[in-house]
Amino acid sequence: MAKASRAYVCQACGAVTSRWSGKCGACGEWNSIIEETAPAGSPALVAIKGGKARLGARATFETLASAATDPPRLPTGIGELDRVLGGGLVPGSAVLVGGDPGIGKSTLLLQAAASLAGCGVPVVYLSGEEATAQVRLRAARLGLGDASVALGTETNLANIIATLSSGPPPALVVIDSVQTLWSEAVDAAPGTISQLRSAASALVSYAKTSGAAVVLVGHVTKDGQIAGPKVIEHMVDTVLYFESLSGHQFRILRAVKNRFGPTDEIGVFEMRYEGLKEVENPSALFLSDRDRGAPGTAVFAGMEGTRPLLVEIQALVAPSTLGTPRRAVVGWDPNRLSMLLAVLEARCGVRLACHDVYLNVAGGMRLAEPAVDLAAASALLSSFSGRAAPEDSVYFGEVSLTGAVRAVGHMDQRLKEAAKLGFARAVVPEAAGAGRRDTAGLQLLPLSELSELVAWFALPQE
Ligand SMILES: [Zn+2]
Repeated sequence: MAKASRAYVCQACGAVTSRWSGKCGACGEWNSIIEETAPAGSPALVAIKGGKARLGARATFETLASAATDPPRLPTGIGELDRVLGGGLVPGSAVLVGGDPGIGKSTLLLQAAASLAGCGVPVVYLSGEEATAQVRLRAARLGLGDASVALGTETNLANIIATLSSGPPPALVVIDSVQTLWSEAVDAAPGTISQLRSAASALVSYAKTSGAAVVLVGHVTKDGQIAGPKVIEHMVDTVLYFESLSGHQFRILRAVKNRFGPTDEIGVFEMRYEGLKEVENPSALFLSDRDRGAPGTAVFAGMEGTRPLLVEIQALVAPSTLGTPRRAVVGWDPNRLSMLLAVLEARCGVRLACHDVYLNVAGGMRLAEPAVDLAAASALLSSFSGRAAPEDSVYFGEVSLTGAVRAVGHMDQRLKEAAKLGFARAVVPEAAGAGRRDTAGLQLLPLSELSELVAWFALPQE
């Protein structure tokens, strides 16, 4: 066997170097490099070095033509969580739930654990962050004190695996958090990259062999003192991130990786004293404090995964005193804003070169769809002209570099959601709107060119 050697590992990105330095060459982080023991040569490598494979056992192969069935699911009973997972937890899979400390990861997983335990499913909850008394207090506050969850505070990896393997495997194991686990075999402090990797790898293989669903909680820290969950993302089947909408008690659960389901679904929760409550109608939430009748706003009928979501886009266009005008955007791609401004300038003759431009997606949402273009353009033109966009209208459509308005998908769902929330008109791409009968009761205003929208706001076109 090769001897274990010292290595210097960046706690922010996991890059390994042979010498210590103050700044990580891979990710540029300062003071993030810690000396750790590199793992000794793996058995596979030893086998190859020996000239012939001695340690490996024969693998079996299957055909592609096996009956394709959906993996079995274990619904947690929390609708928004199940939606993001793709229908529930998959037995034998490993899920990583990341997020800032204190955002509500433990609350969410305790609620899910209790809900499953209430259905008679065996559940183990291992808390390395908090003492059992604290977890019990939280459970009592959430009204889950009676749930038959097996609660533990073990953080030694070998003990955890031994305990879990000693009896029949539970259906769900929650590890809160993976950064508190440590293994004697690894010569590094808990929370370092080596410990994190060894814990994740042992628990993922436990999940695969036992058939239990394992959920790992991972804290995201800014200072790099604890290695982030990013370094174990590739080991698990599903990665979920729990985020808060800035300044709100609302939380969004987002899948960034999912081997058993979609990655574009979001789950919306409201943090209350008595726990996380599912938000059934997120559109109403994002439109709840709209500035009606003010210039510079437009409502975008968007899609998040399979669910339509209405959000308000706000823009401010003001004469600039700077040589290079400011362009600032929150919740949308800055490059997309630059492109839209260039199209408005070059194709529609709207001169914004001497104006500062600010764009904001209300409620702290982040949007990535190209269909936002038309709503963003409308908000920008509304602010620039000082005329309010009609408040009973929603907008969606992609703008191309030629100034054409292009069709986008999921037209019906967008229109239905808008109708449900009391909107009367929809500004849509002409290609999608032509010849439609079912418009969910909305009056369609089809556009083929962005310049038509500019004309609505009665802006001079040069
Ligand atoms: Zn780094």
